[in-house]
Amino acid sequence: MHTLFCNFLQLFSFGVMQFLKAYCVLLASRCFGIRGHNSASFIVHCCLPKRAGGLGILELSAQNQALLLRWLWKLKSEPDATWSTTVQNLYGSLDIPTLATNSLVSHGLKDILLCKEFFLTSIDSLATAPLPLWRWTPSGQYSAASAYSILVDPGLRSPFHTKLWKMRAPPRVKIFLWLLLLDRLLTQKNLITRNWPANDGCPCCSGQVLETSLHLFLECAFTKTVWDLSQQRFNLPILHFPLDLHTFWLQNRATLGTKWDTIWAAVSWTIWKERNSRIFSDKARPPYLLV
Ligand SMILES: [Zn+2]
Repeated sequence: MHTLFCNFLQLFSFGVMQFLKAYCVLLASRCFGIRGHNSASFIVHCCLPKRAGGLGILELSAQNQALLLRWLWKLKSEPDATWSTTVQNLYGSLDIPTLATNSLVSHGLKDILLCKEFFLTSIDSLATAPLPLWRWTPSGQYSAASAYSILVDPGLRSPFHTKLWKMRAPPRVKIFLWLLLLDRLLTQKNLITRNWPANDGCPCCSGQVLETSLHLFLECAFTKTVWDLSQQRFNLPILHFPLDLHTFWLQNRATLGTKWDTIWAAVSWTIWKERNSRIFSDKARPPYLLV
């Protein structure tokens, strides 16, 4: 009965969806005895696509992000369009990371730039293509539907999904990599996001740098030394160090093949173990002992 009711309400948009969320909380509470934090998980489950076992109800914040992302896509793909030239004239740049650090940008643009991390991990810039390619559609063109689909359920359609589970690595390492690529590892940044206690600074470089997945597995001076040593140890060509972890894996994979999967998995796992050893056992090893 509730499924029919929910499906019926999908005919309406936005304002009604707020009511629908309240209905789901009520449903979780009255029918299933789910309250508090668990009711939020219940709503997330309701918003999963039906093929993933959810009810396929529109998730408002993801829908909103998908619509905002279109404006970032226009900045990258249509630099001569009115929107892009206006931004260029007002703030002197169309570079998204540069705009994100500009304190003078309008509140509207700030809201749009909140989606930048997802956006930057969703585009591929190829030397052979004049414009960026959207990673989540076969055509490489942005669509709000594809963005929404990934935002609601990133594991379903991501291009790394199949490659990852076929990788030759222990299951726990594959799950670790899956969490890494979804940015679900409990790094200090993610602990702080969840209002959990976290130490200051990255434990590997001892710098006052917030420990994010990107920092720990790509940007950290310690990690770079580990990768340099790994390159020599495994006789690898020069590795590509792009701006995100997905591209780091896939771009080097394009050069090295599935051999890279094993090396990437082993080194990333080692870095994570070393990080945990430093935090939880107060034991630190230098990079040359890890490779
Ligand atoms: Zn570091």
